[in-house]
Amino acid sequence: MSDILYIVVPCYNEEEVLQETASRLRHKLASLIESGAVSEKSRILFVNDGSKDRTFEIIESLHKTCKLFAGLSLSRNRGHQNALLAGLLTAKNYADAVISMDADLQDDIDAVDEMIKKYKEGCDIVYGVRSKRKTDSFLKRFTAEGFYRLMNFLGANTIYNHADYRLMSKRALEALENYKEVNLFLRGIVPLIGFKTDIVYYERHERFAGESKYPLKKMLAFAFEGITSFSVKPIRFITMLGFFITLVSVGMFVYTLVRYFQGNTEVGWASLIISLWAIGGLTLLSIGIIGEYIGKIYLEVKGRPRFIIDKLLLDEESEVKAEESSK
Ligand code: UDP
Ligand code: MG
Repeated sequence: MSDILYIVVPCYNEEEVLQETASRLRHKLASLIESGAVSEKSRILFVNDGSKDRTFEIIESLHKTCKLFAGLSLSRNRGHQNALLAGLLTAKNYADAVISMDADLQDDIDAVDEMIKKYKEGCDIVYGVRSKRKTDSFLKRFTAEGFYRLMNFLGANTIYNHADYRLMSKRALEALENYKEVNLFLRGIVPLIGFKTDIVYYERHERFAGESKYPLKKMLAFAFEGITSFSVKPIRFITMLGFFITLVSVGMFVYTLVRYFQGNTEVGWASLIISLWAIGGLTLLSIGIIGEYIGKIYLEVKGRPRFIIDKLLLDEESEVKAEESSK
């Protein structure tokens, strides 16, 4: 029997695209089932993220007309990442593997075949990566690519040019469930899980209808969330700056003393300059040190799993066998 595949699609005010998306996905899944690549228990799960338009009514009617469609509705709008997580963790209970993708089908659904192939070869996570960004506006491309670089520079490892189009196996999702953080940035968490992973390349299309639900403001908030959820390096910069300024203050101390003994200073200038630099440097350094502790607390309260086991080689009858061999 082949594996059950769930395709999870978060939807927020997507009434314009949903019918088309649904029919394309249904064709895809039906052909996968027909070719025997996935089980006929496979489903397309739409997650309604508190839409204000007819999105959920459309999902309901889709569910009524075809058993391949399933639906999930959140109590209110919780944002893309939370909607996605809700869908993934729900699908995990029914599926062997789950693929997540956006409702606007900007991600090429034909990459699904290759994802399944890699999954069958033993991969637990398969990332969809955009080979080009021709169709994105200059601003989107510039900000997005700059963002990946900044993230990696700050120590949060994300897959370059990978959005949330990916396949995850059941056990990868079970591992994901152990990341309890509320500030959710899936692109950063998933690489932390580990297991055997691979990449599938595809070309990104333009949104075929409706508008992006990620205006610049949401995009910046998302980027900030990504950085602050994964890196305490900004704190380290403060500490380093404080250290540097303290060093400068020592230099200023020497310089001011020399000027003082040369006799060409105003009364009070030396003490003022020295204390200005010294206090500035020490204040920054102290804030940095306090920050280091806060950073540690921050990482602790996330309560991330300390390890995830991939394989355990253990023969429970080994003791018996050892006895046998010693006889
Ligand atoms: N989305 C969501 N909740 C939100 C915002 C967006 O579930 O609050 C969904 C949206 O319906 C789409 C996906 O997240 O399926 C990505 O959004 P969009 O295509 O607008 O982002 P872009 O491709 O412009 O980055
Ligand atoms: Mg989109």
